[in-house]
Amino acid sequence: MTKDIQPIFIMPEGTQRTTGKTAQRNNIMAAKLVAETVRTTLGPMGMDKMLVDSLGDITVTNDGVTILEEMQVDHPAAKMIIEVAKTQEEEIGDGTTTAVVLAGELLKNAEDLLDKDIHPTIISKGYKLAEEKAIEILNSIAKNVTENDAETLKKVAVTALIGKGAEAAKEILANAAVEAVKKVIEPNGSSFDFNKDNIKIEKKVGASVEETKLIDGIALEKEVVHSSMPKKIESAKIVLLDCAIEIKSTEIDAKIEIRDPAQMQAFLQQEENMLKDMVDKIIASGANIVFCQKGIDDLAQHFLAKQNIMAFRRVKKSDIEALARAINAKIITRISDITEKDLGEAGRVEERKIGDENMTFVTGCKNPKAVTILVRGGTEHVVDEAKRALTDAVGDVAVALKSGKVVAGAGAPEIEVARNLRKFADTLSGREQFAVIAFANAMEIIPRTLAENAGLDPIDMLTELKAAHEKNQVWAGINVFEKKVADAWLNGVVEPLSIKTQAISSASEVSRMILRIDDIIAGGKREDSPMPPQGMPGMY
Ligand code: ADP
Ligand code: MG
Repeated sequence: MTKDIQPIFIMPEGTQRTTGKTAQRNNIMAAKLVAETVRTTLGPMGMDKMLVDSLGDITVTNDGVTILEEMQVDHPAAKMIIEVAKTQEEEIGDGTTTAVVLAGELLKNAEDLLDKDIHPTIISKGYKLAEEKAIEILNSIAKNVTENDAETLKKVAVTALIGKGAEAAKEILANAAVEAVKKVIEPNGSSFDFNKDNIKIEKKVGASVEETKLIDGIALEKEVVHSSMPKKIESAKIVLLDCAIEIKSTEIDAKIEIRDPAQMQAFLQQEENMLKDMVDKIIASGANIVFCQKGIDDLAQHFLAKQNIMAFRRVKKSDIEALARAINAKIITRISDITEKDLGEAGRVEERKIGDENMTFVTGCKNPKAVTILVRGGTEHVVDEAKRALTDAVGDVAVALKSGKVVAGAGAPEIEVARNLRKFADTLSGREQFAVIAFANAMEIIPRTLAENAGLDPIDMLTELKAAHEKNQVWAGINVFEKKVADAWLNGVVEPLSIKTQAISSASEVSRMILRIDDIIAGGKREDSPMPPQGMPGMY
């Protein structure tokens, strides 16, 4: 009977479809591969990766998200894992490798449960329970930190820097990070607001990393627009413009017919007067410095220079905004609107040669809400990696202050979470229990990887760690340098609580999402050459 039924195609030709267990296994495999790639970089003894892009540019880094962003990944599940790293980077700014490694391990352990015929929805439910419990456990062991606790904040910064290229200057970089964050955060109820754009991290190749400095103001990659303007002004009164000091050319094509030379002269004179007017408005406001986001006409430059005004043109929008916060000035959109109270003040504005380029420093700002850290380093690769490390340090200090809670690291919190999750599993009945235990086991991938990357025996280390935690040594972690189990808190390995909670929840979320997929439908690629392997279409 069935032989009369015609096959029905509901999807276009070229569509690839994988269903059921095969789909699940494929996805898990892809996710595990991504995790495996970054795993060797975890922790202070993690290895670096050398990334070479299609243009041959080289990046040497052990920053999880940088590696994943540069990798050209095609598999959809692998892309989902990389999204986790990006979310972690955006929300917290650190802990990307942790999140990805954890997601890989959660999926690996889920695979074992699938083998035992436990349904994905049960695993997913158990993982969700475990995730919530894990976050509760972390909150209960976390310690408070405040703005005045310089010592703890510095530990947070140093922890972010260790193992990165810039480690040699960790004291200097950590102090710069803590001071910078303290300057720009703003209290908001019981928490703080922090906008990372308020800390500009500028890099300049040249001196050693130790020469990195916090500037209580803004450093710009700009030079004075006209050679006869001053290069340095004390007691600066600064106007910020986001309009040009130029005569606008008409948008519509207009033709001006000039018949005799006098008319021409009058026309030019009028332009000159208009420019002069603009400059006079600026002078009248009392400003001695102009930062302009747009252009400045040559003639206007000349007028400004004659008045000993220092001017900069085509300043980046983000720099103008940072300047506004640093010197407490208003950004002017129409020159005729400038008044004295729109101006900002700085102790000094100076153009200086840094490396082989000129930069301008706006310093001595009274209560700057935006600051700059000028990162130095011997080579391009060194400054790049120092900047990445410093960005992590700044982010971690800010996140620690925002949530007001920190934990010690070095594998200690993961062991503590695993231990308490197992106790929690005992209180559950039903098959979710297996999933909670699988989740607990997955947490141990972090200390295990830290041990492996430090060349230690992971089994010995985990046994020792677990024994210490059984004796209520909550912060027992791995001292990767002395190669033994030790109190991570006393060793100064301190991290914001939210690195850990965010990493756990995003890893859990993505693993649950991947587990629930049992059908992969991939549309045929249109860019594929329509030419069949045999030759031209229609030739067979
Ligand atoms: P991520 O991208 O996840 O931040 P990292 O390479 O920065 O990856 O490694 C973070 C892990 O290294 C955390 O588990 C942290 O506790 C641990 N860690 C950081 N500093 C130390 C240290 N000095 N000793 C041992 N472990 C450390
Ligand atoms: Mg890190």
